[in-house]
Amino acid sequence: MQTIPSLLAGKDVSNLSAALQKDDAAAHELSTLLGMIVYERSVVAKGSAIYCLARKELEKLLCVLWIAPRSVEGFSGNGLAFGRKRIQMRGLICPRSEANASALRETLSFCAPQLLDRRRSFGAGDRLGIATPAHVRAIRGTGVSPIFAQQSIREMERTGRSPQQVIDSATWGVFEEGWRDGFGSDADHLKRPEDIDRCAAAGFTMFTIDPGDHVDNEAQSANAAILAKKFDALPWAELESTVPKCRKQYAGKISDLAGGVKITLSEQDLMRAAAKYGKAIAHTVKMYRHLVTTMGNRPFELEMSVDETATPTTPAEHYFVAAELKRLGVKWVSLAPRFVGDFEKGIDYKGSLDEFERRFVEHVAIAAHLGPYKISLHSGSDKFSVYAIAARCAGDLLHVKTAGTSYLEALRAVATVDPGLFREILAFAFERYDTDRATYHVSATTSQVRRPEQLKDNELASVLDVNAGRQLLHVTYGSVLTAREGNKPRFKDRILTALKQHEEIHYDIVAKHIRRHVDPISYNR
Ligand code: ZN
Repeated sequence: MQTIPSLLAGKDVSNLSAALQKDDAAAHELSTLLGMIVYERSVVAKGSAIYCLARKELEKLLCVLWIAPRSVEGFSGNGLAFGRKRIQMRGLICPRSEANASALRETLSFCAPQLLDRRRSFGAGDRLGIATPAHVRAIRGTGVSPIFAQQSIREMERTGRSPQQVIDSATWGVFEEGWRDGFGSDADHLKRPEDIDRCAAAGFTMFTIDPGDHVDNEAQSANAAILAKKFDALPWAELESTVPKCRKQYAGKISDLAGGVKITLSEQDLMRAAAKYGKAIAHTVKMYRHLVTTMGNRPFELEMSVDETATPTTPAEHYFVAAELKRLGVKWVSLAPRFVGDFEKGIDYKGSLDEFERRFVEHVAIAAHLGPYKISLHSGSDKFSVYAIAARCAGDLLHVKTAGTSYLEALRAVATVDPGLFREILAFAFERYDTDRATYHVSATTSQVRRPEQLKDNELASVLDVNAGRQLLHVTYGSVLTAREGNKPRFKDRILTALKQHEEIHYDIVAKHIRRHVDPISYNR
């Protein structure tokens, strides 16, 4: 291995393009030179400069080094100069600011989000903004395409994070861990045009439109007369269609899809599908067109999600929605139906796996026929019994989305390294649960979870091994992360400090848990 000064002195430093491994001599040399601990995997050479992430106590800093008289533009930080024999080395030690994150993405394209390919993909939400290195470790070697920047607007509001912070956290995380294979970014569950504007400005590349508020769940059990009324009253102008046109197009039609899947829409099925999803389709089209205008010539991807609605999406309804979106010119890469069974937050699937599989096969056949696009599995955290089924049935056409589970596993790390803090968080979660659960699909009650005073220190993490404990801590994250004591956060800073002080324990716990999600959908099983 060449040493850093000799690499910098050479004409071509691109031979440092692969991430360094632990105990690499060049990384050691860099650490000594900078007087900080360098993250080995972050070291990268581009052009005539070397970039790396280093740590001084709990602060992480971007370091850029080059040989005078060359120079590097775009970054701001404290200047360094080393005189080593004939070689005059210059450098900058930069804070992880928004401007430096942006400059890093400009310089090292693998630090910027990009469009996904057609392989199976996995989205890992990160509520604390420090889990990306763990997510990288979980995904490495699986062949699955990752989304490392992913958060719903609701979660951003509840955690007080901005779209830009979500992107920047992923940028710093992939840089730290040396992930050079690209990652996606998913602005999740967008409901209003202004959500699109904020996320587009931050550099998101994928947008998940959630028209769930416009789904008419009453149509599920409405009688023929009511359905006919609802059908007539749809916003036909917005749908660029009419009652007779829609009837002619779908009623009584049978579609033969691959794998022997048949989708039949009787007159009644059509009315129900249209009554239930017609306004949601119109809203999705509106959002899509807004997105097209906002993005201009920047490429982007779209997902449509109706997973958070009260009633399951039947294959016939999925077919109708997708066929209508297509007719109206919407282009999308994935669609999240509401599946049969229960996808409660933070715990395994509840329901018949046979029925799940039968329906899933039909959803995939529709996606292959009208797309191809991926079937997106939301609330994907901890649904261990369904991943293998989904991967087997979907082939490449599968996206799995997880959000809360990395936070829960971070709390497991907190229980290990700072039991006192975990006790306080748990006690607070008990107070908040009945209020916070309102907008979540959960069934746990507080009586099912052991209270902090009943637990010894080494039993605290066991709260996260039972469904009710996971849900209790899952839905109270917003209250925990934004709680204040006087003029400072009550828990958030202490959680972050504990996890940064024990970074490897945190990364290891989260990576192992996420790996259990990714392994069943890995291309290298
Ligand atoms: Zn969702």
